[in-house]
Amino acid sequence: MLTINTERLLRLLDNLAEIGATEEGGVSRPALSEADMQARAWFKEQAVFYGLDYREDSAGNQSVILPSEDANAKTLLVGSHLDTVPNGGRYDGALGVLAAFEALLTIKEARRKLPYHLECISFTDEEGTLVGLLGSSALCGTLTAEDLAAPRGGRERLLEGLKRANLTEEGLLNARRDPATLAAFLELHIEQGTRLEEANIDIGVVTSIVGIRSYWIEYIGQAAHAGTTPMDKRADAFWGAAAFAQQARDMVMEQFYPGVVNIGAVELSPGAFNIVPERARLALEFRHGSEGELNAMWAELQSLARDIAQVYNLNVQITHSGSIPAAP
Ligand SMILES: [Zn+2]
Repeated sequence: MLTINTERLLRLLDNLAEIGATEEGGVSRPALSEADMQARAWFKEQAVFYGLDYREDSAGNQSVILPSEDANAKTLLVGSHLDTVPNGGRYDGALGVLAAFEALLTIKEARRKLPYHLECISFTDEEGTLVGLLGSSALCGTLTAEDLAAPRGGRERLLEGLKRANLTEEGLLNARRDPATLAAFLELHIEQGTRLEEANIDIGVVTSIVGIRSYWIEYIGQAAHAGTTPMDKRADAFWGAAAFAQQARDMVMEQFYPGVVNIGAVELSPGAFNIVPERARLALEFRHGSEGELNAMWAELQSLARDIAQVYNLNVQITHSGSIPAAP
């Protein structure tokens, strides 16, 4: 059995973590930002330094390749992502890419013959700074022009990033790879929850990948003077929003374990000390490993949103923002 060079892997992880390092000990490398571009350049340098083939596709996915002698062999993709959320963890994504990289080096040094081409891949914008799963969906051929027209990070930011990385929308939409050429995809990822850690278990195998759905929920009431309008005459949009947040939490915990729900942003308008909020806009996201449970969650969340609107004398508008299906 081969053993990786642990020292080298840890050194690579340390070196990478210096790029975009934050004072809190994490890293900020939003996709195609200056810091991400630095990390990408660094990754390419490592491939060249260690004498491995390097390639980039038209979606900006970076690949380091150890070819099989059999030119017609399929490719085993192994990797993750180098981009991070703002102040993200130093191992999120980085571990998957660099562990794959180290595995390639170990196998290369042992001069093993390979039944597959081994390809260590880092996907563009996995975290969703711009579009989310951008590089991987481009590779799968599931990325659409609509995804690029209304990206979750904003259109301007996307165009800026593409320009910085010398990428084009056309290139993104034409980065599909023929599945017949691929053997499988493997990813090592740091645990993002705490279950394995609490159980003192070193490694777990993923049995499903959660689906994610996001919606804007907007409560609409009536702006009024916060001093003179009697409490029982108000249509305060924030009361609806607050009740929804609380009850959505209780409902998901009681009925949909291990599903999760999050309200990650609240915008109130007009937005002043002395004005009853007319509008409260919530960024709602929920996740579950089963599509059936996601559908049930959404049905419950919608009826909850509507019931609460009635209780507080509000209107509610719901706008779909994005969906990623669960992979069982
Ligand atoms: Zn990750």
